[in-house]
This record gives sequence, structure tokens and C-alpha cells, in this order.
Amino acid sequence: MAVPPLLRAVIMGPPGSGKGTVSARIIKHFGVKHLSSGDLLRDNMQKKTEVGILAKSYIDQGQLIPDHIMTQLMLNEIKSLDQHNWLLDGFPRTVAQAEALNKECHIDTVIDLDVPFETIKCRLTARWIHPASGRVYNLEFSPPKGIDDITGEPLVQRDDDKPETVSKRLQAYDAQTKPVLEYYRKKGLLKSFSGTETNKIWPHIYAFLQTKLPDVSQKDAAKPR
Ligand code: AMP
Repeated sequence: MAVPPLLRAVIMGPPGSGKGTVSARIIKHFGVKHLSSGDLLRDNMQKKTEVGILAKSYIDQGQLIPDHIMTQLMLNEIKSLDQHNWLLDGFPRTVAQAEALNKECHIDTVIDLDVPFETIKCRLTARWIHPASGRVYNLEFSPPKGIDDITGEPLVQRDDDKPETVSKRLQAYDAQTKPVLEYYRKKGLLKSFSGTETNKIWPHIYAFLQTKLPDVSQKDAAKPR
């Protein structure tokens, strides 16, 4: 039997569109390696590496990291994924990054989460955290008490969840990342999934990926969650 080609996929969508949740489900069902540029940057920031210190100043202002820094960081990581199926999340975010990636490897699938900006603004600005424990609260769904249930301490908003920063991130997406969708659309690789709820979009993504990879999750294979 012929061995299916390795999946070389990218997941795209505005910040807050559910990329993290969908990626986790793809990993669970299809066993792919996942590489998130945001996670990689946060890891570098936590370890206070040279890249991490530089990245923080951009991220705190809702700006993208310069292409040459991002491309070098990601291409380096991609090499370590080797002969696995993989999914890139958050990269490429500009056409320059997509072109640099194209020189190194052949992408075959681009999953686009097409979620309206208004839905995203409500989602992101409603997220508050308790800094000491990392507990996350969604004030859209729970009453806006503004304090941590367990300690009674005040909740704070992550700098990049503040309304003005969210608007900047969405503007940056519009200006710099939409052309990347066009770039992949022209190559015939773009598969868009539209909706306002991740749980409603997911079954369509699952069905699409099932045409490419077997479901390797042990149970509930018939009920994609
Ligand atoms: P994310 O968690 O994917 O929303 O990423 C958090 C922040 O990291 C973004 O708002 C950007 O400032 C930065 N970032 C992540 N990926 C990239 C990328 N491919 N190019 C430039 N900046 C990025």
C-alpha cells in the first residue's frame, strides 16, 4: 500500500478565532506535531532569551515581530519536526514569511478559521486572569465580579487582551495577514471554515482532515470533539 504523503499544514485565523482549541483537537485526533509561533515566543520570553526580550516589546504593543527574526526562529524549529505530520499555528503571518517558508518546504493544506472580528472582540476583551494562579475567567459568561473566586484577589486583563490592543492586533491581521490568505488561495491550498462558534466549525474541519489522515484517537472516533 502506498504511504500517504506527510501532512504539511498551516492553521490561520485572527487572534482569538479558536486556533488553539482547533489545533488541540487536530493533535488529539490526527496525532500531528503542532508548532505555535505564539507559544514559541512566550517560551522564549519566559526564559528571557535574546529573542524573548525583543519579542516582548512588540507583543506588549500588539505588533508583529519582524519577519527575519520570526522566520529564522520558526524554520529552525520546523527542521526538528523532521518526518512527522505537522501543523503550523500563527506562522506565516505575512507574505514575506510565507515566501520564506515556501523556499524551505512544500505546504499542502491551509486551514482558515473565518470568524467575524466583532465576535473576536467580545471574546478577547471578556477574558480576565488571576495573575498569581493563572486562573482564567470569561466575564462574558460569568457575572463580572472582578475578583478571584478562591482568593478574593482582583483579576487583571492580559496586556494583549485589552480593548485597544485587541483592536491593534485585528488591524495588524487585516493589513498583514489577509494577503497571506490570498497567497495560499492563489496556490489552491486555502480551505476556509466560517462561523462564530468553534464547536460548530470543528466537525467540518474534522471531516476535511479525515480525507487526508486517519483518526488515531482511541475512543469516540465517530464523535469528533
Ligand atoms: P499568538 O499567540 O499567535 O496570538 O501570538 C502572540 C503575539 O506574538 C502576536 O500578537 C505577535 O505579536 C507575535 N507573533 C506570533 N506569531 C508571529 C508571526 N508569525 N510573525 C510576527 N509576530 C508573531
